[in-house]
Amino acid sequence: MTAAEYLDRFDNAMTPVPGTTTVPSDKVREAHALAIAALATRDTIPNPTEPWPTGITARILTRAAILTGNHHATVDIHDDTRSTANCTSCGWTKSHGNAYRSEVIDWAQDHANQCTALPQPTA
Ligand SMILES: [Zn+2]
Repeated sequence: MTAAEYLDRFDNAMTPVPGTTTVPSDKVREAHALAIAALATRDTIPNPTEPWPTGITARILTRAAILTGNHHATVDIHDDTRSTANCTSCGWTKSHGNAYRSEVIDWAQDHANQCTALPQPTA
């Protein structure tokens, strides 16, 4: 469902049934507004298959990316003389010699599983 379709459903749900005065509670309205905002973000994010920036050899979606659908929230791994993990949302960074790349990826995965920071919007 697109954000526009969801908004139509939301507007219909907000119309009281004829002959009644029942209206959704503020909590229901707030939950709907948050869902719409998340869906609107999903509809406008770039295709997640776009090329990775130069030098990135692995990329892990953060918890925030999975919750919101914003695939710009990632922990990226760079490999040169060292393996370095960097969270694009909160700036968390960890690095180790290339021989320990698998540990760097484990640290990156652990961070990604917990990070709910959102990347700064680019547009
Ligand atoms: Zn982070």
